[in-house]
Amino acid sequence: MLGRRLVPRPLLGLLCRRQCAQPVAARSCPAQRQAWPAAASAPRVQHRLTRQQCTDAAAAAAAAEPSAHRSPYYRAEAGPQAPQPLDMDEPYPAEGEDGFYTASFYSFFEIPEAALPELRAAIQDEWSQDLAIVGRIYICEQGINAQLSVRGKKIRALRAWLEASGAFAGRIPRFNWAIEHRRAFKALHVRVRPLVAVGESLGLPTLGREPEYLAPAEWEQELRDAQARDPDTLLVDMRNTYEFRIGRFQGAVCPDADTFRDEMAMVRELCAGRAKTEPIYMYCTGGIRCSVAGALLKSEGYANVRTLQGGIIAYGRHVRERAQGAPSMFRGKNFTFDKRLGEEVTGEVLAKCDQCGGPCDTFTNCANQSCNLLFIQCPACALKHHATCGNAVCVERAHMSHEERIKNRMGPVWNYHMRIRPEKVFGKDGIARPEALSGADACSASAVGEAAQQASDASA
Ligand SMILES: [Zn+2]
Ligand SMILES: [Zn+2]
Repeated sequence: MLGRRLVPRPLLGLLCRRQCAQPVAARSCPAQRQAWPAAASAPRVQHRLTRQQCTDAAAAAAAAEPSAHRSPYYRAEAGPQAPQPLDMDEPYPAEGEDGFYTASFYSFFEIPEAALPELRAAIQDEWSQDLAIVGRIYICEQGINAQLSVRGKKIRALRAWLEASGAFAGRIPRFNWAIEHRRAFKALHVRVRPLVAVGESLGLPTLGREPEYLAPAEWEQELRDAQARDPDTLLVDMRNTYEFRIGRFQGAVCPDADTFRDEMAMVRELCAGRAKTEPIYMYCTGGIRCSVAGALLKSEGYANVRTLQGGIIAYGRHVRERAQGAPSMFRGKNFTFDKRLGEEVTGEVLAKCDQCGGPCDTFTNCANQSCNLLFIQCPACALKHHATCGNAVCVERAHMSHEERIKNRMGPVWNYHMRIRPEKVFGKDGIARPEALSGADACSASAVGEAAQQASDASA
C-alpha cells in the first residue's frame, strides 16, 4: 500500500551486523536488548540468533518486566525489555483529515554516530516531501526529540515509516498530541544535535536512570495527597522563566532561569538540603527535560524523582478530556515552541502585557524578524505598535515588503538572553529601547539603535 519512497532506506547493517547478523532492519530485531542490555557499553560480540529465537527471547523478557510505572521509553540500564510495539491503533485526532495535527515525541536509544547523516537526510527528504510534515526534529547518538505538525491523512503513513525504519522500529512511544491543532511550523528542520541542551555530554547509561513516570491522573492524585500531607513538598517547574510566566502548576517552585543548564544548577541547589529519599516532583512541557533532569538527579543519588509523563501537554489533554471532575492543578497556558507560542489549559490569565501592563497571556515575536523579541502583547498594544516592540526601526521594518527587507538587510538585534527578557528592554512607555539595557546586558553592536544605524547605512 505504501509508495516505494515512503519506505525508508534500511540503514544497512546498522546494528544486526553485530547482533543477530541479519543484514536489514537490524534495529527492529527484538532480541537487541536481550543480547545487548546496555548497548552503549557492551562488548562487541557476535550473536547468531535466528529471527524466531530473537522473538521468543524478547517475549520472555517482556513477560518478566513488571508493569507498574513502566516507562514508555527505552531504558538503557533497565535490563532485558522488549522494544515497545508500535501501536497502530493509537487514538489519532481525526484520521484521514487534510488538516494539520500537532504532536511531539522523544525516545532515548542508541543511534551509531556514522548513521546520523544518512538518517537526517532520509527524514528531511522523505518526511517533508512524501509525508508533508513540518516541524523540528533533533537526532543524536542518544535518540530523537521531535515536534511536528502532520496532516491527518498522513499520520498512519508516518507510523508506518517509523516501523519500517531500521533506526526507529519499536522505539517510538505514542505521539503526545497537542490540545489545539493547526500547522504550527513553517517548514521541516532536521538537525543532528543533543536532544536537550544540558551543557554536558550524557550517555545512554546516565539517561537510562529514568525517573518514575506518572500518568496525568496519577500525577494529580499523588501531588494532591503529597501537598496535603506536607505543604513543603518539592514540585519543580523545569522550564525557563518566559515559559512559566503564562502558566504553571499551583505550588510549584519556578527557578528563574533562561536555559535548561541554569535550571539544572538551581534544581541541584533546591535539592541539596533535602534527604535523598524525599520525593521530588517535576514537570515540563512534553516530558523530555524531566526525563533528563530526573536521570541526572537519580545518578546523583536522589532515589525518588517523580515526573509528569507527557508533561503539561498530556496533563492539558487530561483536563480537557474529563467531562467533570476536580479543577485543573495547572493554571493558565502551556508555552509551546512553535508558531502557536502556547495552548490554553485553563482560561485563567496569569501574566501581564509587557507594554501596557494589562492582563494578557498572548506571547508574540516582534514583527521585525531581526528583532524577534519574545514578549507578551495585548490586542490594543498590537494595534498601537503595529505588532512590534514599538521601536521606530521595528515599526518601519514591519511595513517593508519582503524585497525591501532583503535590500536593507539587518542582523539580529538581541542575543538569546535579551530576546526572552522583555522586562529588561521595555521602557515605561512600552517601547523597547537600547537605553533600557544595562551595559553588561547589551548585546554588543546589536542594540536597536546601532541596528537602526546599520539599516540606514545599508539603505543609503
Ligand atoms: Zn498592552
Ligand atoms: Zn522589535
